[in-house]
Amino acid sequence: MSYVDEVLDLLVAKNPSQPEFHQAAKEVLESLRVVIEENEEEYRKDALLERLTTPERVILFRVPWVDDKGQVQVNNGFRVQFNSAIGPYKGGLRFHPSVNLGIIKFLGFEQIFKNSLTGLPIGGGKGGSDFDPKGKSDREVMAFCQSFMTELNKHIGADTDVPAGDIGVGGREIGYLFGQYKRIRNLYEGVLTGKGLTYGGSLARTEATGYGLLYFTEEMLKSNGKDIKGATIAVSGAGNVAIYAIQKAQQLGGKPVTCSDSTGWIYDPEGIDVELLKEVKEIKRARLTEYAAKRPSAQYHEGKGVWTVKCDVALPCATQNELDLEDAKTLVANGCYAVAEGANMPTTLEATEYLQANGILFAPGKASNAGGVATSALEMSQNSERLSWSFEEVDQKLKGIMVNIFHNVDDASRKYGMEKNYVAGANIAGFQKVADAMKAQGIV
Ligand code: NDP
Repeated sequence: MSYVDEVLDLLVAKNPSQPEFHQAAKEVLESLRVVIEENEEEYRKDALLERLTTPERVILFRVPWVDDKGQVQVNNGFRVQFNSAIGPYKGGLRFHPSVNLGIIKFLGFEQIFKNSLTGLPIGGGKGGSDFDPKGKSDREVMAFCQSFMTELNKHIGADTDVPAGDIGVGGREIGYLFGQYKRIRNLYEGVLTGKGLTYGGSLARTEATGYGLLYFTEEMLKSNGKDIKGATIAVSGAGNVAIYAIQKAQQLGGKPVTCSDSTGWIYDPEGIDVELLKEVKEIKRARLTEYAAKRPSAQYHEGKGVWTVKCDVALPCATQNELDLEDAKTLVANGCYAVAEGANMPTTLEATEYLQANGILFAPGKASNAGGVATSALEMSQNSERLSWSFEEVDQKLKGIMVNIFHNVDDASRKYGMEKNYVAGANIAGFQKVADAMKAQGIV
């Protein structure tokens, strides 16, 4: 049996009931096959893949808090410190009822390669809780965040592990978490990113993942003789990534016509009104029905359906496995020519394979959504320097990083004879740096 197959079998046996983690590991290791086979004996002897797929540390903890009725609630807290070969652990916190250990491990594993691709010195980690901020008062969210940080603070630090936001963790949550860290540790340091501008945040961090997705997509289209200008774009999600992807797409001359949340979706043939979307989602924290009520050109539909809309480019920006094989078939039949992932692993393995087999340009999230974590690393640099850079300076650096990621991914895919397979290119380019650093640091 090949070394890759052996490790995948072992991983499934050792981590039962974690399908998302299995899926992420399979996607990565399958595409590393060519690289692993070149050095199979050495990697096997060093158990490189076993070490790469086993987190350095997993922290599980109880998060008790008191709701507005005086009732004590208990949630699960997680932090997976996956790999620190190239820098301190870095990766977001997700607060969503679906969160479990397998989901945090899949996200932490992906983060290793994504962070490596940015070219910046950051290792891979991820964390979160099954707490649902939706429908909670600000006081309840604060009580939860303070309890969560009361345990988490023991395991993180500006040079150890630097969490950020993800689904359900935005500026409000980061503020409460930072306040509690500072209070307990008596340290004012860049321990979290995505902070507010008055206390160490970076300009352009809020926009970074969505903007970065579009910089990557623009470069990918350009290198394939296509143009984002004039393209009709289907976007899913209506959160941080989706909103700023829509905004940058419009600035580049594209026309995003959809968005969605967990209850329904919008088709707006005149193009999404991004200011209205921000008001509904960022300020009022309301459902998309409010968008439709204020926008005569918009049609609201219950459930799922964004990928049925005819488009040139699809940008899944909501959550994992939201674009399946049926969706992929519909996109291809409707003439879509590019899919770029804003979310983490939004496309199922079968859908990815179908899209690639049908000649669709497919950008995997670990490359195309790396702008968020890259800008988080720029926030860390500014905190260390105790300086703040201008919006333009950060945005310029972000664009340079995304263009560079595209070319590194493209070059790696060509080098191994898999031209335009950006999934393989991203995994190979991300892996090589981490593997070299792990080898240099010995058996740890
Ligand atoms: P937000 O919480 O801001 O927004 C998430 C959006 O997706 C919301 O519109 C939400 O709808 C929808 N959504 C979430 N879960 C589901 C679900 N199970 N089914 C259908 N819709 C769902 O999160 P972000 O925009 O920050 O994150 C979106 C994706 O991008 C995630 O995969 C995240 O890991 C990834 N990502 C985020 C980065 C960042 O910087 N924020 C960086 C890199 C990747 P509703 O409002 O109804 O919950």
